[in-house]
Amino acid sequence: MKLLIALSVVGLCLTSAAQSFDGFCPECKVEGLWSTVYGGAGEITAAYYRSFYDDDGRYHHHDGNTMTSYYECSQGHSWIEYSTGSCWCGWPDNETTN
Ligand SMILES: [Zn+2]
Ligand SMILES: [Zn+2]
Repeated sequence: MKLLIALSVVGLCLTSAAQSFDGFCPECKVEGLWSTVYGGAGEITAAYYRSFYDDDGRYHHHDGNTMTSYYECSQGHSWIEYSTGSCWCGWPDNETTN
């Protein structure tokens, strides 16, 4: 999470999304199994959000939508990953309201 935020500062805040999924089935990792992961089909909430410029003229992109992705592995496990937008300022982990 901290790494993603650091990258957001350098890169594009606009397209950044915190994604916890590392490409491996979490259950297979625990059991020490190898598997092929399928899916990634997702839904995104359609919450309205506003981009804004703060007192110092810095651009913020606070997209509060949650992306829901469904995954399945070849061992028969299935799980859901959630990801939300993030901003260079640390939002939403570091929520500060002005
Ligand atoms: Zn699995
Ligand atoms: Zn921000």
